[in-house]
This record gives sequence, structure tokens and C-alpha cells, in this order.
Amino acid sequence: MPTVTIDGRNIRVEKGATILDAARKAGIWIPTLCYHPAVSSDASCRLCMVELDRGDWRQLVTSCNYPVRRDITVYVSSERAQQARRGVMQLLLARAPESEELKALAERMGVQGTPYPNVTESQRNCILCGLCVRVCEEVIGCAAISFAGRGVERVVAAPFRQPSDDCIGCGACAAVCPVGTIKIRLHEDEQEIEISPFKSRRKLLTCEQCGAPIVSTVVSELAVDRVQMQFGQAKTDLTEFRERVRLCPKCRRSKSATRFGTVMA
Ligand code: SF4
Ligand code: SF4
Repeated sequence: MPTVTIDGRNIRVEKGATILDAARKAGIWIPTLCYHPAVSSDASCRLCMVELDRGDWRQLVTSCNYPVRRDITVYVSSERAQQARRGVMQLLLARAPESEELKALAERMGVQGTPYPNVTESQRNCILCGLCVRVCEEVIGCAAISFAGRGVERVVAAPFRQPSDDCIGCGACAAVCPVGTIKIRLHEDEQEIEISPFKSRRKLLTCEQCGAPIVSTVVSELAVDRVQMQFGQAKTDLTEFRERVRLCPKCRRSKSATRFGTVMA
């Protein structure tokens, strides 16, 4: 197992682990935005830069995708590494100036505002980290969104910038967006869920008992299909599973508690 020496601390990791893995194992904080353990790393935001000791010179590398194959020495809190990360944060702040999440991270890094002009309205407060695109493709398996346009016009969008039939309204992209750009909007009159800014809409499933919104109907149907495929009718009481899917978590818990006698009528 190779050893990563970070700011003088030795951390042993599996061969192929990243510098970021080593830092996290030792509780050393490196800021990240485009990194998520559930998807591939492409280091697009550059916020996790550290200095790698090359002997007679040091190189800035992105820690989230730098594989450790032998013993290496890294500096996370050197002046140059911190300056590099702060510079990146200033650029990102210009892209998403209203993001509370980004402002909080900038403050933690000691960055006060940005000297750069803000990007245009059409770029919609997006830092182009691509996390939503990777989650939609690699975890959900839909590939309903992707990068579109070039240069300053580059955005994340559904094909032809129209609502996509491939979107199942699962909301995973909104959950991982590190700057809060993607929102789940409920249209209660139409009983629909919308993934904004992609404009995709899906029918909304509401709780049979209390009427609380749960999830898009497509997602609930997929959940039933998957359970059926994985376990088969013989091993699973699908009727009961279908009933439970149509309840919100609170009503589901209350129903289970009643069944097992922990709630007195
Ligand atoms: S809500 Fe739509 S775009 Fe977002 S991850 Fe799910 S399928 Fe993809
Ligand atoms: S919408 Fe959010 S997750 Fe997607 S690229 Fe932009 S900042 Fe990243």
C-alpha cells in the first residue's frame, strides 16, 4: 500500500485511491464541488487543487482524480495551493453569484467576493461542473441532459433545449447540484412535478392518505418494476409493496407502527 504524505502526515491508501481519498481518510479538508463518490470524477471545477512534490519542483494537480500508485508527497495548505484554489473560487463566484451554497464555501476558504464580472443571465447560475449530467447518465441511466453550446454560451440542457421525454422526474440532478441551480417545482393544480431549468414535467404521485407529494409516477412505477424483476412475484408481496409506494414516508411509518402494535388506537 503506497503512502501519501499530506502536509507532513503519512496516510496509507490502496493503490489507485486518489489524493482526495487519502485526505478524507485522514480528516484533512480539501474543498470540492464537482466531486461525488457515486459518479466518475472529471475534475472540471478544479477546486480541489493541491501541490504535488516532484522532487526539484512542485506541480498543481486536482486531488479528486489523481491516482496514487506509489509513495507521494502533497501539500494541501501551502500558500501556492491555497492561492490556486482561491483563484478558482473567484472565477466560480462570477458564474454563480447568487448561490448561497457557493458563498458559504467561499467564506470557509477565506474568499471575499470576486473581481470578475458576473456571467450572463442565460447561463443561469451554473458552474458547469457536470455533476447533474453524470448522475443522470451513470446512476439513473437516463442521459436526459447534457452540455450544449460552446464557449460562453455553454450550458447544461435537455436535447434541443426542450422538455425531455427521457427525464423521469427523479430529482437526482437537483439533489447533487452543488450550487442549487436545479430545482424541483411542484405544480399542485396540474398534479405535476417540474425539473427546472430543464422544463421537464412528470405526473406527480401524492400520498393516498394525507395528500403529500411523494415522487413522480414514473419513478414509482419503475420502483415496482425493479422490485418485481429483482425478487419476482414468488418472494415479494407486490400488492403490499404497491400500497406502500403510494404512501408518503410519514404515513408509511405510521401504518407499519400500527400493524406491529406500537401505536394505540
Ligand atoms: S430528474 Fe430528469 S434530468 Fe434530473 S437526474 Fe432525473 S432523469 Fe435526469
Ligand atoms: S446545473 Fe448544477 S450540477 Fe449541473 S453543471 Fe450546473 S452547477 Fe453543476
